[in-house]
Amino acid sequence: MDVDVLVVGAGLAGLYTATLLAQRGHDVLLVERRPKLTGAIRTTGIFVRRTLDDFALPPDCLGPPIRRVVLYPPSQRHPVTLVSARDEYRVADMARLYVAASSAAADAGVRISLGTRYAGREADSFLVVGPDGPACVRARFVVGADGARSRVARDLALDRNRHLLVGAEKVFAISGGEEPPTFHCVLDPSLAPGYLAWVINDGNRAHVGVAGYADRFPDGLRRALDRFGASAPGLAGAGRSDEVERRGGPIPVGGVLRRISCVDGLLVGDAAGAVSPLTAGGLDPCLRLSEHAAAVLDEALRAGRPDALSHYDGAVLRAGFRGRLMLRHGLAQVRTPTLAATAFTLLRTRFGRAAAGRILFGDKSFPAP
Ligand SMILES: Cc1cc2nc3c(=O)[nH]c(=O)nc-3n(C[C@H](O)[C@H](O)[C@H](O)COP(=O)(O)OP(=O)(O)OC[C@H]3O[C@@H](n4cnc5c(N)ncnc54)[C@H](O)[C@@H]3O)c2cc1C
Repeated sequence: MDVDVLVVGAGLAGLYTATLLAQRGHDVLLVERRPKLTGAIRTTGIFVRRTLDDFALPPDCLGPPIRRVVLYPPSQRHPVTLVSARDEYRVADMARLYVAASSAAADAGVRISLGTRYAGREADSFLVVGPDGPACVRARFVVGADGARSRVARDLALDRNRHLLVGAEKVFAISGGEEPPTFHCVLDPSLAPGYLAWVINDGNRAHVGVAGYADRFPDGLRRALDRFGASAPGLAGAGRSDEVERRGGPIPVGGVLRRISCVDGLLVGDAAGAVSPLTAGGLDPCLRLSEHAAAVLDEALRAGRPDALSHYDGAVLRAGFRGRLMLRHGLAQVRTPTLAATAFTLLRTRFGRAAAGRILFGDKSFPAP
């Protein structure tokens, strides 16, 4: 098969990049190893205000707005509550959102091949293995939208994510409950070493999760999630459905990688390390970087100049992450519950609350290319 662009991975980054390229008239094949987009979801799906303002996400895929964040020390006693004057977050029904995004891609002319794994590069073509067996694809460019552990990055000899957290969560429908839609974050390194444990309850569904450095969970990620689930805040008085969906995956937090393009292709989303090192939010960055990628690829295809991809430079974008990388380093040093409790006393001060408010409700987003 001959195409202009082969996109590997139908997460949000791959779906969006493929759609933008097809809308510009290019012939795009999108391959995804998952047999259906509603399974094996790897994200909570919290979209921040900046994304909701700038991108037209289908409203029927979004949960109620959330303005309230409650931050807890390891003891979970005397939390700090922050309430924004604006709607800050909405949790998407990701299964529905992926289906809507794939319909938009197909409408734009993208050929989507599910249950199809990218298996490597062979001379001037790419090998994919689908339900009908292996096939060779000749593409002018390949886009690695294949997540944090990108095989495309390896095959193109581009940079690869080395600084990763792992996260896992349980998702269930909820009814009743005593509080407005709220995002609860617990700073406890014995549950979430180097990051946070969370409950996000928007009144429709609750997500209970933990994330951290894989080698620092005292008794493993799964047990940490079970322990947190047993004492998680924010669920009092709420009815829970018995059906529980489990999600999880790696989260690159080392900042945008420096080398994310070469003459044969480029990386987007998690494959490019486009995740906030501090908050571990990757949905806003993956949409913004996909727009940049599609513009650069469009120019390269129209002008027939592969060197146009050299404008797609991770080192330039990375400069905008300096502050967040420093804060990530700081969070990684909070290794014991005692230290977390001490750090938490800072959060109770006016300065601490203002700083937390800036991180949680601020206007900062992925650096504009
Ligand atoms: C537990 C967890 C919770 C998170 N919660 C949030 C959140 O609430 N808000 C937020 O902003 N960010 C969150 N993130 C981060 C965010 O989800 C990611 O940054 C974002 O989803 C990345 O999208 P992507 O398209 O780059 O990658 P992915 O969504 O990982 O998509 C990559 C796709 O490539 C496919 N693939 C991989 N290899 C191959 C191959 N060889 N052949 C074919 N297909 C392949 C995979 O099956 C997958 O579908 C979370 C991450 C985790 C792990």
